[in-house]
Amino acid sequence: MKTYDIAVIKGDGIGPEIVDEAIKILDVVSKKENFNLNYKEYLMGGCAYEATGNPIPDETIEGCKKSDAILFGSIGGYKWDNLPRELKPESGLLKLRKELGLFANLRPVAVFDELIEASSMKPEVIKGVDLLVVRELTGGIYFGEPRVNDGQKAYNTMVYSKDEIIRIAKVAFESAMKRDKKVCSVDKANVLEVSRLWRATVEEVALDYPRVELSHMFVDNAAMQLVRDPRQFDVILTGNIFGDILSDEASMMSGSIGLLPSSSIGGIVGLYEPIHGSAPDIAGQGIANPIATILSASMMLRYSLGKTKAADMIDSAIKEVLSEGYRTADLAKYHAKVVCSTQEMGDIIVEKIKKA
Ligand code: NAD
Repeated sequence: MKTYDIAVIKGDGIGPEIVDEAIKILDVVSKKENFNLNYKEYLMGGCAYEATGNPIPDETIEGCKKSDAILFGSIGGYKWDNLPRELKPESGLLKLRKELGLFANLRPVAVFDELIEASSMKPEVIKGVDLLVVRELTGGIYFGEPRVNDGQKAYNTMVYSKDEIIRIAKVAFESAMKRDKKVCSVDKANVLEVSRLWRATVEEVALDYPRVELSHMFVDNAAMQLVRDPRQFDVILTGNIFGDILSDEASMMSGSIGLLPSSSIGGIVGLYEPIHGSAPDIAGQGIANPIATILSASMMLRYSLGKTKAADMIDSAIKEVLSEGYRTADLAKYHAKVVCSTQEMGDIIVEKIKKA
């Protein structure tokens, strides 16, 4: 029986609660589909800082590099807000992404019909939305040098090399080939040189994907179009900062950030995590929604381990559970028949998979 090594980083806040549920679900699908998952836990974030003085110990980086995939919960919390930048929990995650060369962040946004009213957007606008934001993750203004703040003047530098644009564009086109074959590349080419190189390079990559329809949009228009008519999008391809903002905007369509998974790929090993943070306001209460993490585990099976059937089982079980009215507290207002705890939600999904 094939065994895969999974590095597990539970992290801070609700991280341990939600990752435990995802593992429960992975155990049941792997058993059904005859493969083994060998989990090894590593520290990252505030908990790592408390234990070792370092938000990402070398052991974590090395362990992740040796694994087949990484399942991650969330990091951060008020307690560590005032630490210097390099010791903050978030710097652990940035370093891990960089060390693993994870340059592509994939965030699917699909609207569940049963939860359509949970979104702040109108049902007729978001019904049927199924899009994927492909965000460049290791370049752009977040990492560009020089970066300066001398108290009187401050600046950052937005840099992209042609190679960086080519590799992220390929991820977007490859993803589109498995979906509706449309890529909308988002930039600010009317103002920024870096965006003009971005646009020209994406055009070049598109030549290798004649079946994919390519369009371009300025980021300000994209922000507006996402609210006006989100169904027009299939794959949105964009850089680091624009992607950060647009993917959060797109996430509002689902009604709860507790529902949205993500993956960071392209490097040595893929990292799978919910889009939300460590939710310190609800940590330890057993009320967090584990679905985003469970869907991240499903993405892990699909993209890093090639276990499509197991991933499909998870996705279907979640749809079924939501259509039957099981809800965690964040979604209790929306056609809930049963309001359940984090753990109960995991148990119900496990039961559905067992019965499937
Ligand atoms: P957050 O995503 O943690 O929480 C925002 C709101 O959403 C909170 O009210 C929270 O209770 C709710 N929420 C989040 N996840 C939920 C879930 N699964 N179920 C139900 N409700 C949920 O964002 P924040 O409050 O801005 O940040 C808290 C900490 O998380 C900060 O330290 C921040 O830096 C960190 N953070 C970490 C990551 C990560 O680990 N990748 C991402 C974003 C923020």
